[in-house]
Amino acid sequence: MDKTLHIIGGGMAGSEAAWQAANMGVDVVIHEMRPKVETFAHQTGNLAEMVCSNSFRSDDDEQNAVGLLHWEMRAANGIIMTTADKHRIPAGGALAVDRDPFAETVTQTLRALPNVSVSEEEITDLPTEGNWIIATGPLTSTALGKSIQDATAQDHLAFFDAIAPIVYADSIDMSQAWMQSRYDKGETEEERTAYLNCPMNKEQYEAFIDALLAADKTEFHEGETAGYFDGCLPIEVMAERGRETLRHGPMKPVGLTNPHKPEEKAYAVVQLRRDNALGTLFNIVGFQTKMKYGAQTEVFRMIPGLENASFARLGGIHRNTFINSPTLLDSRLRMKSRPNVRFAGQITGVEGYVESAAMGLLAGRFAAAEILGHDIPEVPLETAMGSLVNHITGGADAKTFQPMNVNFGLFQPLEDVRGGRKGRKVRYKGYTDRAKEMWQQWLTSQS
Ligand SMILES: Cc1cc2nc3c(=O)[nH]c(=O)nc-3n(C[C@H](O)[C@H](O)[C@H](O)COP(=O)(O)OP(=O)(O)OC[C@H]3O[C@@H](n4cnc5c(N)ncnc54)[C@H](O)[C@@H]3O)c2cc1C
Repeated sequence: MDKTLHIIGGGMAGSEAAWQAANMGVDVVIHEMRPKVETFAHQTGNLAEMVCSNSFRSDDDEQNAVGLLHWEMRAANGIIMTTADKHRIPAGGALAVDRDPFAETVTQTLRALPNVSVSEEEITDLPTEGNWIIATGPLTSTALGKSIQDATAQDHLAFFDAIAPIVYADSIDMSQAWMQSRYDKGETEEERTAYLNCPMNKEQYEAFIDALLAADKTEFHEGETAGYFDGCLPIEVMAERGRETLRHGPMKPVGLTNPHKPEEKAYAVVQLRRDNALGTLFNIVGFQTKMKYGAQTEVFRMIPGLENASFARLGGIHRNTFINSPTLLDSRLRMKSRPNVRFAGQITGVEGYVESAAMGLLAGRFAAAEILGHDIPEVPLETAMGSLVNHITGGADAKTFQPMNVNFGLFQPLEDVRGGRKGRKVRYKGYTDRAKEMWQQWLTSQS
């Protein structure tokens, strides 16, 4: 069997995967369609082009999950992080870079490796033979997207993310909210209490609708909206269609009894659903939105019970191609039905430059190890890498799967550490200390 690793897409994930695999001694071909075929967001033919912001977000590796991911990638000699460090520009606690020199350096470094070549071509079919990583990102070309869809199932590939905001469970005020499924439906007690409910009276509902209508919204990119209005209207668009629309849609108050005020009928109810197996994250059901981030926190904190909510991620609707990883991939990022094909980057359902590069790092190492006949142990769940890969390939609910940033809500809880806001600093330091130790052990096990 051919021992070359083929990577489709030379973005954040593809570049990192190529670097890792090449450093392990494997021959790599990157198939990148730019500059021959363009996307609406990329501007150059460089590898690892940053399509929008020039920031890799927080670089705090003690108190921030994405900062920890930076740390883990640096410890693994990741090309994205080490090149970002070289082209760093001042940005407070964030890691911002000079984008063109950054992408040029990644491109030159990879092209200079004797065992890496770049083939400028669009791949239009999901491969059947050989060793492959698909890292074609949120703007995967139409032909390849269609081929992935044909090989999986209609509903296992999405072209948009309609992201509802995700709230940390321990920031919800349970003296106002309660757990109950509509009409107590379900076979088990767990199913009968699967939803978290936040009630509103008429006054609160009217104020909420006013705030939704007045909030700042972002615009769609040209050509971005095609097809999206079918299934997932932003809540503010629903509110524009009529003040009662939400009360008859995602906020309908039927089939629910508030145990805190059993005699009072709520006028509207906001429902939140568990977003991960750990039960540390909840998404607000049906609340996809184009409101700007600042407006979202203000508006959502008007919901009774969410006055002090901390958000693991805010809502959005974007052009984004991603697969249903919890259904399609195993823990080594292989397609279950075609194990010679791996996926990496944003197409796996992670969100952001750093998370995408991180999944590239893992996919590159896993693929190279397999080609060389080694075994790599599972990534420890206690690390940022492990938490993220575990979320997309197992921890997340496949039915409601939406792209995810790395965040501490994905981490295995720490024993004997205080929950809630007050204990947060100690808890985050506990997570990052534990992760660093486990990540080092994992890396050492491969050297
Ligand atoms: C408009 C827009 C704005 C964004 N802004 C941000 C932001 O500010 N911050 C952030 O962190 N994230 C942002 N993202 C998400 C961002 O795209 C990812 O974080 C990151 O670029 C994903 O890395 P990736 O390697 O998965 O995909 P990409 O970096 O997009 O790389 C995929 C590569 O595959 C190539 N390709 C696609 N199809 C084929 C094919 N069939 N054959 C060969 N090559 C192919 C593409 O040309 C591209 O080079 C944005 C996304 C979009 C669409």
